[in-house]
Amino acid sequence: MPCPKATRCVAPTMGETEKLEQLNDMCIPDAEETDGNYENFIAKCPHCEHKNIFNRVSDLEIVEPIDFKRVICFNSNCRKPFNIGGDSINENYEYLILDCYELLEIKRYMYCILNLCQACEMFFRRAIETKLLFQPYRDKVFEHTEQLNALFKKLYDNIEKYTFDKLRQVFFNLYFYNKSFQSIKMIEDYIDTLDHQKNIIPDDSEIEKYPNIKARNAFKELKCLGINKLRNNVVHKYGYRPSKQEVEENFKKIQGIICALDSYFKIGEKYQFSVDKMQSNQKK
Ligand SMILES: [Zn+2]
Repeated sequence: MPCPKATRCVAPTMGETEKLEQLNDMCIPDAEETDGNYENFIAKCPHCEHKNIFNRVSDLEIVEPIDFKRVICFNSNCRKPFNIGGDSINENYEYLILDCYELLEIKRYMYCILNLCQACEMFFRRAIETKLLFQPYRDKVFEHTEQLNALFKKLYDNIEKYTFDKLRQVFFNLYFYNKSFQSIKMIEDYIDTLDHQKNIIPDDSEIEKYPNIKARNAFKELKCLGINKLRNNVVHKYGYRPSKQEVEENFKKIQGIICALDSYFKIGEKYQFSVDKMQSNQKK
């Protein structure tokens, strides 16, 4: 349908200008075919069908899910505007796991292992935030967003250097032993003593007594998970090349563990409050 503005030949008045701008806006089409991953938003241009890959940080300059944004087609013969939106609101670890389907298809098994291990680390981090910050804030253990941001900073100053093993230990400590925090002082004390905590992953007989069967099985699998060792072999000097079978086994196992623990403990639950983005999302 031609844009109504193109048929005008008389200079519009102020009121008309606004109307025409609105009409012009209506002429800018929405991308109908879109897809997204952790780093990029992909959209087929509705004018020329060029597949545009918008990097969230460099091109769109926004890391939150995209509800609506006007973009310009990258195709140099097109360069027309269109709208994108309807982004998925997956957790970052979910994105990394979903990316593995594509990586498996193109047989980039080393990258699959990196994604899967990083997804676990991000899941642990999110779970730690949920237990120490989001749930107490929701339950009014403390009330001000300034307190929430201060706790975020304290937590990240402490766990910044933690990798898989230590994050897994903290996860077990918080969730297997069902820790709860009734005051801001309890949260601060817990964060302050994280470095000194011993390896307290429960032994098998203790895990066997965990009341919920799905969570119990997931805890058992998580305890034995060796994706971090595999990741280290891939990354470091060995440059280990994993087989398809190794990747598929870990992929299935990690999906199962995260899915069970996520739904049982409501880790990915969306909380209706904002947190200082620099602290909650990523350090640039
Ligand atoms: Zn285009």
